[in-house]
Amino acid sequence: MIETDLLIIGAGPAGCSAAIYAVRAGVKTIIAGGAVPGGQLLQTSDIENYAGFVNPVGGFEIMDNMHKQCKRLGVEFTSDEIVKVEGEKSPFTLTCADGKQYKAMSVIVATGAKARWLGLPGEEKFIGRGLSACATCDGFFMRGKTVCIVGGGNTAFEDALFLAQFCPEVNLIHRRDAFRADKVTVEKAKANPHIKLVLNSVPVEILGAEAVEGVRVKNVQTGETADIPCAGLFVAIGAVPQTDFLKDSLVALADNGLVLADERTRTTIEGIFAAGDCADKHYRQAVIAAGTGAKAGIEAAAFVNLHR
Ligand code: NAP
Repeated sequence: MIETDLLIIGAGPAGCSAAIYAVRAGVKTIIAGGAVPGGQLLQTSDIENYAGFVNPVGGFEIMDNMHKQCKRLGVEFTSDEIVKVEGEKSPFTLTCADGKQYKAMSVIVATGAKARWLGLPGEEKFIGRGLSACATCDGFFMRGKTVCIVGGGNTAFEDALFLAQFCPEVNLIHRRDAFRADKVTVEKAKANPHIKLVLNSVPVEILGAEAVEGVRVKNVQTGETADIPCAGLFVAIGAVPQTDFLKDSLVALADNGLVLADERTRTTIEGIFAAGDCADKHYRQAVIAAGTGAKAGIEAAAFVNLHR
């Protein structure tokens, strides 16, 4: 059993930011980041909306810097994958995939979320080649081009409005003719001359040799298919929080898998905090993850320093 003040699960912006605050408050901090530490930013090529960088910066570079910064400050990293969290009060027992166990006074869950993809054959090969799950990150590269976006929620509609600022044609493909997105946003999109709604339709094939060149859609009512030529295909059909390992724990999750945490990142168990996309219903941005991570680090450090 390895003992620590604080165990942070997840080595993305939320986990690293939390660790920076905690270790600087004198708290022994270990980050369990799994085999590939860094989260969703590792898949993002050019980031332009993370304050503090004059020029676009690679997601890998940001994460590499965060990991180096954590290590310089004394944060320990392990590639352990946590599969179970036990205990109704501090200290908590955490079990890894290989059976190894940690005992931690406090825990921060910062495991992020994974984009939900369409599940079409050959989808993986187009990721980063015109296929993206983040219009905010990759939309800029589609300037002047025709794009498609899939989904009927706020993300899809807001992304469509964002893309329509610099793309002449944005096709919003949705499987129904009713939307989860709020009315005001839907009306804005309907009034936008660059946005075309392709309703009752689902993508059935991504077209292109090396990169996205179009998408084949099927009308779910008529069964007819049509090809829409486009350079970019954005998928906005929700994200899946990586919280399965908490299902048998006492930490409460929402129906959609998000960790229930208050504005101070406190979960339903005192001493366990959650930050970043695993607890974020609205934003899912790296800078927000880093911000909530900072909150969780401050809260966890205060908890540890009060209870030791
Ligand atoms: P969401 O609200 O869950 O919407 C996902 C959309 O994708 C739904 O329209 C759904 O269709 C569709 N979909 C799901 N699986 C699909 C599949 N396999 N194939 C085709 N379509 C599929 O997700 P979101 O838009 O990412 O929003 C997540 C949360 O963040 C929501 O609570 C949202 O309100 C919030 N949000 C808020 C703001 C804001 O307030 N500014 C901005 C963005 C997001 P169905 O409708 O048919 O199920």
